[in-house]
Amino acid sequence: MDYIKEVIAMTEQKNSSQPEFLQTVREVLGSIGPFVDENEAELRKYSVLERLVEPDRQIIFKVPWMDDNGVYCVNRGYRVQFNNALGPYKGGLRFRNNVNLSVIKFLGFEQIFKNSLTSLPLGGAKGGSDFDPRGKSDMEIMRFCQSFMTELYRHIGADLDVPAGDIGVGSRELGFLYGQYKRITGNFISGVLTGKGLSYGGSLIRPEATGYGAAYLLCDVLDHLGDSIEGKTFCLSGYGNAAWGAAKKISALGGKVLTLSGGEGYVYDKDGVSGEKVDFMEHMLTLRAEGKSALSAYAEKYHAEFFPGEKPWGNVPADVYMPCACQNEIDVAEAEKMVDMGVKYLCEVSNMPTSNEAIALLQSKNVVILPAKAANAGGVAVSGLEMAQNSARLVWSADKVDAKLKEIMHGIHEQMLEVINLYKLPYDLVAGANIAGFKKVADAMLAQGV
Ligand code: GLU
Repeated sequence: MDYIKEVIAMTEQKNSSQPEFLQTVREVLGSIGPFVDENEAELRKYSVLERLVEPDRQIIFKVPWMDDNGVYCVNRGYRVQFNNALGPYKGGLRFRNNVNLSVIKFLGFEQIFKNSLTSLPLGGAKGGSDFDPRGKSDMEIMRFCQSFMTELYRHIGADLDVPAGDIGVGSRELGFLYGQYKRITGNFISGVLTGKGLSYGGSLIRPEATGYGAAYLLCDVLDHLGDSIEGKTFCLSGYGNAAWGAAKKISALGGKVLTLSGGEGYVYDKDGVSGEKVDFMEHMLTLRAEGKSALSAYAEKYHAEFFPGEKPWGNVPADVYMPCACQNEIDVAEAEKMVDMGVKYLCEVSNMPTSNEAIALLQSKNVVILPAKAANAGGVAVSGLEMAQNSARLVWSADKVDAKLKEIMHGIHEQMLEVINLYKLPYDLVAGANIAGFKKVADAMLAQGV
């Protein structure tokens, strides 16, 4: 453990202004002790942990663009290429006003282990900008994306670094980004981005993959514990891509989704979000883009209750809480309320939704946590399958991609179990995911030399 403590202290000293990045470093390194202790001499000798916490490359660039009034605006663009021991750098782009280097580094660091868990040959990276598409016109978004790619194109490539979407970057943004990449390079290299539209190299099931993958992993976890989704109640946050996919699959598997949420509050639908209500979630994104209140529109249309300014955590009793919105949605106060409400499972669909203190509290109360690195790995996994289809110049059927996604999520549960059994840990999926994800990266880093 001394080695881990030393590296955490060094990372804190070097990155004191990056709270989100430090949070994930403490969380990951804090739980890989059993593996590090066993292999300390070798890991130390080759400075594996010191090298792991330092990104290979951090690119920060200016993104000038013109708004619809002819005013020139400037945003900041990022691409952090964290680790390519397992494969080309891979990870999404996030466009959101609260994006900064700390946020991109935390996402990139998490991506290393998540991508490792998929068992596909993918390194870890993340990028984005403090540009926020909400409230912007399509043309403003197009001009921004073109300017962003005019700088980014020189740093990416199908075998080098493959960006995709994340918060604020969906099919519209990826289309504009891909169009500009193609225009600049003159080549149709579809494998340079994933999450593309179906008409130009995208994969079926990619939009559903994050939410479906989380539901599949949850099925495996529940199965292992002799339980099932059927009849369970779910409390979801967000109403974007991850929440949509999760609601679609959970309702199909017989679970009941009681809540959706956003910055303006949450809706409680006692009859459950299913069928056409899930389809309405797509329309909610359009409403949000137009600056309208999507949640009150849902509440009005489906006679649900709307609670402005509140979060669902601990206000609604549910068997499974599923954060699907953003980082640090759940702190100790919310975790305490969730425990009082009798929550049994926390399935993290958004990246790092729970503070480290809240994780510790929930674990002490025997809440089973499916950590984001494992639970939301379905998104990047199908991105990996999109890359495979692009390389082979083939298009797989939805059934084929879905079956592969299921297999990958099953494999993630198996890897976590293997580690848990090896180190005689309790059923701690947080440690299981971190150790299993790290082990493979460490092996590759050691094999490839310093
Ligand atoms: N942004 C997603 C994630 O957090 C997907 C990344 C990708 O498909 O490359 O994993």
